Formats: sequence, structure tokens, C-alpha cells
Amino acid sequence: MATSATAPGPVRAAGLAAEEAAGRLRRVGPNVLPSSRPPAIWRLLARQLTHFFALLLWAAAVLAVIAGMPELGVAIAVVVLVNGVFAFVQEYRADRAADRLRDLMPAAATVRRDGHRLTVAAADLVPDDLVLLEAGDRISADLAVVEAHAIAVDESMLTGESVPRRVTVDERLFAGTYLVEGAASAIVVATGQQTRLAGIAELTRGATRPPSPLAVRLNRVVKVVAAVAVAVGAVFLGTAMLLGAEPIVAFLLAIGVTVALVPEGLLPTVTLSLAWGARRMAGRNALVRRLDSVETLGSVTFICTDKTGTLTRNEMSAVEVWTALGAATVRGVGYQPTGQIDTPAANRDAVADLAYAAVRASSGRLSRRDGQWQPHGDPMEVALHVLALRAGVDVSARERWEPATAIYPFDSRRLRYATVVADTLYVKGAPEAVLSRCPAPPPDAAAVARRMAGRGLRVLAVATRRGPGLGAGPERDERELELLGLVGLADPPRPDVGQAVTVCRTAGIRLAIVTGDHAGTAGAIAEQVGLLGPDRIVVEGRDLPADDAALADLLEHDGVVVARARPEDKLRITRALQARGHVVAMTGDGVNDAPALRQADIGIAMGASGSDVAREAADLVLLDDHFATIVTAVELGRATFTNIRRFLTYHLTDNVAELAPFLAWALTGGAFPLAIGVLQILALDIGTDILPALALGAEPPNARTLAGRARTGQLIDGAVLRRVFGILGPAEVLASLGAFTAVLLAGGWRWAASPDAGLLAAASGAAFTAIVLGQLANAFACRSAVRPAWRIDPRRNPLLLGAVAVELVLLGVFLTVPPLPGLLDGDLPTALGWLLAATAVPTVLLSDAAAKRARRADARP
Ligand code: ADP
Ligand code: MG
Repeated sequence: MATSATAPGPVRAAGLAAEEAAGRLRRVGPNVLPSSRPPAIWRLLARQLTHFFALLLWAAAVLAVIAGMPELGVAIAVVVLVNGVFAFVQEYRADRAADRLRDLMPAAATVRRDGHRLTVAAADLVPDDLVLLEAGDRISADLAVVEAHAIAVDESMLTGESVPRRVTVDERLFAGTYLVEGAASAIVVATGQQTRLAGIAELTRGATRPPSPLAVRLNRVVKVVAAVAVAVGAVFLGTAMLLGAEPIVAFLLAIGVTVALVPEGLLPTVTLSLAWGARRMAGRNALVRRLDSVETLGSVTFICTDKTGTLTRNEMSAVEVWTALGAATVRGVGYQPTGQIDTPAANRDAVADLAYAAVRASSGRLSRRDGQWQPHGDPMEVALHVLALRAGVDVSARERWEPATAIYPFDSRRLRYATVVADTLYVKGAPEAVLSRCPAPPPDAAAVARRMAGRGLRVLAVATRRGPGLGAGPERDERELELLGLVGLADPPRPDVGQAVTVCRTAGIRLAIVTGDHAGTAGAIAEQVGLLGPDRIVVEGRDLPADDAALADLLEHDGVVVARARPEDKLRITRALQARGHVVAMTGDGVNDAPALRQADIGIAMGASGSDVAREAADLVLLDDHFATIVTAVELGRATFTNIRRFLTYHLTDNVAELAPFLAWALTGGAFPLAIGVLQILALDIGTDILPALALGAEPPNARTLAGRARTGQLIDGAVLRRVFGILGPAEVLASLGAFTAVLLAGGWRWAASPDAGLLAAASGAAFTAIVLGQLANAFACRSAVRPAWRIDPRRNPLLLGAVAVELVLLGVFLTVPPLPGLLDGDLPTALGWLLAATAVPTVLLSDAAAKRARRADARP
């Protein structure tokens, strides 16, 4: 039986035996929900074969057959199929990539097994496991509560109800929901398929995901372009009929123009490019939760980061202790419990009492497994456990015979953590938050705390309260405290943060530290990593200007530190900056940070520390919690954005070259023969063009990516259009129509005469070749918007080299392998044709380089 439907038996405080758990896991299977099955493959494929343009082409194919041109009909059908399959493969791969991102998200649970507290993968939970939960945790299986300390769960995932539900002992908790308040222990009653969530997942499976904002925007672009294409096609149909063309020929011509203008491959290529960006980010410890965020990341202009773990290593050690009897210095290495406390003998007991109280007011512990000391939980709390061990206190022994009766976990409003053990309350927290609740704190305590913070130490105050009647909730219990002393914890900055800060500055990205920590500590760390701005502004959350505009003004000074920031401050800061037009990235780790993370353009949560609630609300999860990883993600986001513009430029240029022959033909009233035909256009669009476009989408970031401000806004803007219609397109047209005309003239054609079929095929082959070669050069030109193609190391994008090699092979195939030349109406060019077609390469490269140069000259003051 996979689950026990009955209520759990007597609480096994020690949890399952590890062996028993392993056995159950084998019998019951892992605690995973089947990933929602993607829609059937044939359906996805069918969609690619039946969209509007595919239907148009199908109609053309049928007409061609009816009109007695079966080869043409078949050719068009092949084209639709090839195009459809290609788009399908891209979309499918992008979807898979998005799924895989989800699988990378860490999902862990804290359990007690064999009496040890353990962190296990959520997938390894088995029925009857004893799970320990704290505010912020995701509930990974269906559970029955055995011990509850003022808990509330957010069940909106299951019920849609957004107000957290209060839960008491014996009630159920359901997989997929979140504990948002309090602490609890609970027994697993159902895992995987047996959970209520699985039942619901069954129902919703197959429901389609809403399209992302980027997809909506791109769709709009495609629609506009398509509408234009259809309109132009209709005009051509009319013109051709007026010129006396047979209706069928006129129709095929119109189709050709339409197809030439429609960027069929655009959407799947963009999606795939984003998926590539996301995969690169994942390789650098940055997980995006939606592909769209890749693009948004690229346009981030303001990063608000917290301090602990992001700028610092989050490897804490208690280095100083202060009690009313005096100061103490702690010596020791890392989490090794051996070490020494230097203090007068009279102070030893006081230090030991303080250390013990601090550990009782925490859940993070150091434990010994297989001869190794290992941290579990909050590193700061582990450091306190280490301190206690160094002070000679055997915490675990005392915990075993005196378990806590109430737990009030840390939250970023109270800034305290407290537990009740028998008739004693143990509290630790931010000095202000604790001292303010001591009726008679030692007079110099506050000053000592400030001094410690000023040296960059994280400071905690530890206090107790004795007496009956405890357990009535944090507000009632946490008062009339007796201060035991202060602890100063060192948490050194990460080594490469300084460099990442410099990179942000050159990239025009503003920074602010928004932390719950003390102003002194935060200011000192900001100084150490070089983040503190020249104006050295350090403010506390409660002193922030009440007016949003003033707040934004303040933060526009780069490098501001906001200390003792409350979750609502984070939300306000985000909104104020957004009102200024900033694209804001905001980090958060606590339960209450979720609204700010959702509001931010990029909400960032921590994968290693931080709560599941924050991760759920975030767009980006840092697997290593590292500030530099944010910067890397921004860089990769920018690179992806640039890549999308690169291949858009490339693709649109091709459209210009394809459209020009039709224009020339129509504007001359048919006096100038049509240089390339419908099938040649299709061969270009979905044959020779596709791979280079994809390769441009994989261009790696370069030194310029982070130089200068973010390019926010449109994918297709004035700069792209000018380049396409003003420079690259005309260059290709010049080369292809030039080659076409020259071959015709050399073959004896005169204006307005209709050339014989052989001559036309040779000339058309030359025009086609010129466009392919022009696009080949264009691929290299599009690698940069500012530098000439030959200045960019070709080896940096080996995919592109492969792609153009394939492009050349395809060209040869289209020109020589029967029946293709006949179908496409393009023969192998003559020597003259080759020579002229080859000029496309220098024409494109040189005009592109000249335009870039002119623009650079313009840009110089
Ligand atoms: P940060 O931005 O540095 O992560 P937090 O919001 O986590 O800041 O913490 C704010 C303050 O709350 C800290 O300076 C510390 O004094 C106190 N604090 C943090 N974590 C705990 C905890 N687990 N127990 C008690 N107090 C804590
Ligand atoms: Mg924190």
C-alpha cells in the first residue's frame, strides 16, 4: 500500500529509521508528480502545417496541380512540410528546455530520521516520514500535523483562497501549499500520485499555458508584417491580371510576394534563442523560471540586492561576545567545534549561558555524520551552535530531554526568533528588536552593538524570560526580557563581488543594497565591496522619504544602502524605481518578500538559502546565491536580446532581396523579367537562410555586451530597419539584380523582350546565387552592429562557420541536383554569372562597413 489513509500512529520523535525510509522509497516510489504531459506531438506538428500561411501554400499547391504543373504542386507541398517540421522541432526543443529548467529547481525537505535532522530531496519523502517545517517552506507531500506552533498555510495553489489558513494539530497539510507562519512537525500520509495535488494535476493536465508577453508582442509584429504581405500580394495579383497574365500565374506570383515578406520562421527562432539563453544561464547558476525573463534580464537598469549570502559568503562565525560582565573573543576555524574563548574566568558562565540561549532560540544546527561536521539550516544559527560547543555546552543532550513547547520563528518584521522550553523563553534577534523589549538593559549594550556593527559584524542580542504562562504567542511572550548579551558574527564578503560591482557601473546599471541588517553592518560591507556610492548614503527603512518621487531621487544616487528594510519598503522601492522607468531586479529571501519579488521586473530568490515561498514568487533563482551571478545573468540576457536583433536583421534583409525582383517586374509593367520565382524564395527562406539565422542566435556574449547602458525596448526598431532597408537590403539587391541583368544582356536580351527559357534560367540562377552569397556575407555583417565583419573573430561562433558551409552545399544542390534546377527555374550560372554573383560578398561587406563607420563618426562629438 502506497499510503496510510489512517491517522499516523504514535509520534515517533526520532522519525523513521534511515533503512526503513530507503525500503519504503523502493516500494512506494519517489515522491514526484508526473510532469504534466505535453500536448500530443502530432497535434503540435499539425498546428505547424495548418496555420494561415501553410494553408495559403497548400491552396497554391492544389492550384498548381489543377493548372497542370504537378511538379510545382509537389514542390510547394514539400516546402510546407519541411517548414512545418522545422518550426515544430524548434518549438518542441524550446519547450523541453523550459521543462528542464523547472527540474533544476532545488526541492528539499527537512526530516527527522534516526533522531537526526536531515535535509533530503523532496522526491525521497516516504509515508510516515517526520517532516520539520518552518515559515517559508513548501509542503512537498500530504501531511498530518503532529506539532504546531502558530502555523498558517497558503493554500491558494489548491483552493484559490489567498488568505492563509490557520492549522492545528491533527489537521492536514497538502503538497504544493506553503507554510507562511510558524513552525510545525508533521507525518507524511501521502506522496506522489496519492497526494491531493496529483489529483488536481490530473484535471488540469492538457490545459494550455497562457502566451508570454514576449510571444504576444512578437505575434503582433508577425501579424502586422503578414497583413502588409498579404496586401502587397493582392496588389500584385491585380497588376499581373491587368498586364494580361494568366490568372493561375498571377496567383502564384502573388503567393510568391506574400511568402517573401512573411517572416515564417521568426517566432520559433526567437523562442529557441531564448531557450538557449536560459540554458547558458542555468550553466552559470542562474535559473530563469520563464523564458521571457531572459529578455527582461537584458534590459535591467537597477539592481537592488540584499547583503547576507549575496554580497557575503554566508559562512558565518561568531567572533565576539559581550555580556554585562565583559567582552570575549572567540577563536577557531570554520565549523570546527574545537576552539577557544578568550575572556576572564568570571565571564565564562555568562558566555556559556548566552550561547546556550542563542542556540535554543534557533533551528540551525551543526551535526556530526560519518565523522564530518555538517551545517543544517541558517548558517548564522549554525555559527551560534558552534559558539556553544566552543563554550563547552552540550546542547543536543539538553534538547533531548527538554524539547521546545512553542517556537516563534524569525520573520523580517519582528526580527526575532524565540522558543519556549518549559517555563523559559529564549529569544535572539536584531539588537534594537530585543533591547526595546528589555525593561532594564545594561546601559552600554546599545553602544557596544553599534560599535560591533560598524566593523561589519552582524550583531544579535540574546535574552530570556522565566516564569509561568508562556506559550501565548510571540507578542505576549516576547516582553520583559532579560538581556544575556550580544554576539558579533563575521561574514566576509565574497571575493569577486567587487569586480561584479565594477561591471555594473560600466554597464550603466545602478545598484542599491536593500537589507534587513543593521545600518552599520550593511554600510561596512558596502564599503568593503566597493558598492557604497560617493555620497555614502546609508538610510534605514523607516527613514526613507514618504514621497515616492523623493524616494526615487534618493536611490538614483548610485550605491545607496537601505538598512533595516522591511518587506513593504522593498515593495515601495520597486514601485518608485519603476515609476522612473527603471527595469528593476530585486532580491528577496523571506516569506514576506514575495510581493516585492512579484512586483519587480526580475524578482530574484536564492536557491541555497532563502525560502520556498520566495523562490515560487521569483523570476530568477540563484543556485549559488551569488551577486556576481545576477550580473552574469544580465549579461547573458543582453547577449540574447542582441542575438535576436542579429537574426532579425539577417532575416529581414533576405526579404528585401526577395521582394525587389517582384517590384522591378511590376513597376516596369513586366518589361523587366522576373528575376527569381516563388520556389526560389522558399528555398532561400527555409533552405539556405535558416541555419545561419539560428547560428546568429547562438552568438556568445562579447566584451561590448556589458559596455554601456541596456538597450531597452523594441526588438525591431529604427536602427534595425534603417540597416535592413537602407544598407544591407539594397546591397544585396544591387548584386543580384545586377548579375541578373548582366547575364541577360550578355545573352542578347533587350528591354521589354521576353528572354528565351534557357537564358532566363541562367540569369535567374545567377540572381539566386547572388542572394545566397550576399546572405552569407550578411551573416558575418550581422554579428556586430558597430564593427566591420572582418574585425570579429570567426572562431568565436563555430556554429556560424558550419552554417555557412551548409548554406554553400545547399546552394550547389539547388543549382545542380535534378529535378531542383528545373523546379526552381534557376540553372547553374555561367562564368560571368558566377563572377557577378560573387560580387555580392564584397558589396554587402563594404557597404555595411562604410555605414558602420559613418555612424561611428557621427557618434563622436
Ligand atoms: P539580511 O538582509 O542581511 O538577510 P535579514 O532580514 O535576514 O537581513 O535579517 C535582519 C536582522 O534580523 C539581522 O540583522 C539579524 O539581526 C536578525 N536576524 C536575522 N536572522 C535571524 C534569525 N534567524 N534569528 C534571529 N534574528 C535574526
Ligand atoms: Mg537574511
